[in-house]
Amino acid sequence: MPTRLTSHDLARISCSACEGCGECCRGMDDTIHLDPYDVCLLSQNLGTGFGELLNKRIGLHVDGGLVLPHLLMDKETDACSFLGPDGRCSIHAFRPGFCRLYPLGRVYENGTLGYFVTDSVCPGGRSKVRIHKWLEIADLPRYEAFLLTWHDFRKEVQKELLSAQDMELSQKTALYILDLFYGTPTAPGRDFHTAFARRIKKARKDLGLSI
Ligand code: SF4
Ligand code: SF4
Repeated sequence: MPTRLTSHDLARISCSACEGCGECCRGMDDTIHLDPYDVCLLSQNLGTGFGELLNKRIGLHVDGGLVLPHLLMDKETDACSFLGPDGRCSIHAFRPGFCRLYPLGRVYENGTLGYFVTDSVCPGGRSKVRIHKWLEIADLPRYEAFLLTWHDFRKEVQKELLSAQDMELSQKTALYILDLFYGTPTAPGRDFHTAFARRIKKARKDLGLSI
């Protein structure tokens, strides 16, 4: 098991001197999953709604009965559509959480969130970096609280969906969650976390989950 780290720890991260080869942004299939915060940042910064991003920048996959979004790879180049010709990310300032993490991974355990260093093929130089600095997220405690809530909510709903007998109701539930958390925009300038807390409360009530 890799060592579990917190955001206050130092990690020897292999791509700390990015050479812009773009290798971490190619051939990723549907593995760069997007959470509601990622999609909110993409929509607000690109000025484009979720529906317009679908099938151009974003694809959908099924995970435990839920329908969830991921970054699409270009059919011809097999690279992320946001990878610039210089081998660098064209949306670096508002890149998704998975991209911020690389080459770190996240681990959820007993209601807490941790990090670990993954094996990576990145040719960049190795140096030690404090994880919270690496992530470059303004209000990290609030962001981590969001990640934990979203993770626990998904697991809870997935458990319900996987044991459900009514397929039509399960599909409706999956689409309801996709629409509420991804398809419903958070207006520019509005606080994502406040809107997210309201949506979680509404979803729990609508789906009959314990608050
Ligand atoms: S693999 Fe490493 S060096 Fe290449 S683009 Fe990604 S982070 Fe940069
Ligand atoms: S969003 Fe940027 S960092 Fe993430 S895979 Fe695409 S090009 Fe790479």
